[in-house]
Amino acid sequence: MYSANFKYYSPRTVAEAVKLLQEHGEEARILAGGMSLIPMMKMRLVSVNHLIDIGKIDSMKGMAENGSDIVIGGATTHHAIETSPLIQKEVPLMSEVASWIGDPQVRNKGTIGGSLIHADPSGDWGACIIALKGKIMVSNGEKERAIDSDDFFVDMYETSIKAGEILTRVSVPAKSGKGHGFSYMNMERKAGDFATVGVATQLELDDKGNCSSAGIGLTAVGRTPMRASEAEEFLLGKKVGIDGINEAAKLAVKSTDPTDDPLRGSAEFKKAMCEVYTRRSLRTAFERAGGAI
Ligand SMILES: Cc1cc2nc3c(=O)[nH]c(=O)nc-3n(C[C@H](O)[C@H](O)[C@H](O)COP(=O)(O)OP(=O)(O)OC[C@H]3O[C@@H](n4cnc5c(N)ncnc54)[C@H](O)[C@@H]3O)c2cc1C
Repeated sequence: MYSANFKYYSPRTVAEAVKLLQEHGEEARILAGGMSLIPMMKMRLVSVNHLIDIGKIDSMKGMAENGSDIVIGGATTHHAIETSPLIQKEVPLMSEVASWIGDPQVRNKGTIGGSLIHADPSGDWGACIIALKGKIMVSNGEKERAIDSDDFFVDMYETSIKAGEILTRVSVPAKSGKGHGFSYMNMERKAGDFATVGVATQLELDDKGNCSSAGIGLTAVGRTPMRASEAEEFLLGKKVGIDGINEAAKLAVKSTDPTDDPLRGSAEFKKAMCEVYTRRSLRTAFERAGGAI
């Protein structure tokens, strides 16, 4: 099936793109990698009269340091993030997460901004940005505002971005080096599939081996990606160890609210897998942080 006809625009700046978006209102859509939008247009699940391609806005691509944060342009592809030496060094969790997304074609075209805005409840980036306690920057052309990752996802396929705004950047604190560990564990039905359950974790251990920072983001276990708050709080200040990891994994399940999925398993199965994958992810993060089991 082919999509309905539309007018195509290729702005070179964020200001131009936002202007077009605001001019054409609900009839307009941003096109990033097109990995989610184009199939929806072809299946006529969405109708778009004005398609605004952000692929030629150079300022929305790439990654850079900004003080102690790493900033990633909204139109940066999953592949660019996966293979970036800066990301591998400063926020290796992001590189690991990117490697799990779809297949090479999807990773080469799809973007972090498109993925976050699409807000698929099984998308991988949400769990990662939540675990890292990152921020999502959006612009209405006049000013940029930062949305906390905890406030970004509103419901399935719905975020707190407003009409006429574009996701310009994602900002995360650099998390790497001595005492820091991370892990993304993703249970897939088959290679390249969306997650049945995905767990992103990052841990920091102080000089005495106590947990000084914990971030746990979950995906595919509710209507939106979510933070396992109780599990994070439980770990803080503790020596962790295998008993702590087991207990935190149990607590993580409390945050979830999965529904039965005919393809990827029942709610009960997803909860059970959430516990298993949180345990594995925390254990890997703990060991990478220098902790001994
Ligand atoms: C076969 C296949 C397998 C996949 N597997 C996975 C997977 O395992 N894990 C996973 O997380 N994802 C997966 N995806 C989704 C993939 O990550 C997409 O890249 C992503 O969902 C959409 O990104 P995009 O850049 O292609 O956005 P597009 O499809 O171009 O856009 C998606 C939506 O976001 C809006 N948008 C895009 N960019 C912006 C912006 N900067 N500001 C405002 N609005 C914007 C668009 O208007 C549209 O509504 C898969 C997709 C396919 C086709």
